[in-house]
Amino acid sequence: MKSVVSVHGAGSSHMVGDGFPVRNLFPSNGVDANPFLMFDYAGPLEFAPAGEPRGVGEHPHRGFETVTIVYEGVVAHRDSAGGGGVIGPGDVQWMTAAAGIVHEEKHEREFARRGGVLEMAQLWVNLPKTHKMSTPGYQAITSAQIPVVGAVRVIAGELDGVRGPARTFTPINVFDVRLTAGGRTVITVPEGHSAALAMLSGEVSVNGVAVSGEAQLAVLSREGRRVEIEAQAQSKLLFLGGEPIDEPVASYGPFVMNTQDEIRQAIDDYRAGRMGRLRP
Ligand code: MN
Repeated sequence: MKSVVSVHGAGSSHMVGDGFPVRNLFPSNGVDANPFLMFDYAGPLEFAPAGEPRGVGEHPHRGFETVTIVYEGVVAHRDSAGGGGVIGPGDVQWMTAAAGIVHEEKHEREFARRGGVLEMAQLWVNLPKTHKMSTPGYQAITSAQIPVVGAVRVIAGELDGVRGPARTFTPINVFDVRLTAGGRTVITVPEGHSAALAMLSGEVSVNGVAVSGEAQLAVLSREGRRVEIEAQAQSKLLFLGGEPIDEPVASYGPFVMNTQDEIRQAIDDYRAGRMGRLRP
């Protein structure tokens, strides 16, 4: 059995661009969730109808992957590598920035025009040194492609022999867990993997430790394999697990590399247009 090491609230709350009101579940509270770098929970928040889609304009990334999971509302993405798409409830975008990408993340135009509730999460997944400068990629994963094992949607990795659709560079488990009051599920992962449970909302016990409210993070031990979750109320959780990447991390805003020299190179490359540009 894994043990719950600590439980944390969001370390910061802020607006990303003008469209994503986020509560940051790590690393602003000091949690190191290696191989995951960052987790922002956006919303739920009702947006009034708007003429122009809100969101984040053109910006770069290098050295990792951004994973966007939509719970409510519709978001649109497009990038300098030609990737792009619109995702709604249950859908996932898995964008591999790797050597460098420039993208924008906005509310989808029709959703923005109508207005409505937006609720989503964005996770940053580190890449091992050997893949930080790989070719960028984009995986559009629709809700229908995500297999369900009991109360768990397997986005990435494997649960009880069922594999999720996301292609990853290191062993990772990303599971969307929905429980009703009285519901129970057991997640088993490989020994030595890191694990954390992000509670978006609800009330559960995780291996006997109570976690409740909104935007909470339970960090589990690397030792052990089993995670038992029992819900006392309707609960929405994201399980994050994976093999730690034990390499140096140098990060600066949207760039996560291994050394400061590589960070300086990333800034130069972005400024010189070597990560590409968005078409107007
Ligand atoms: Mn971005």
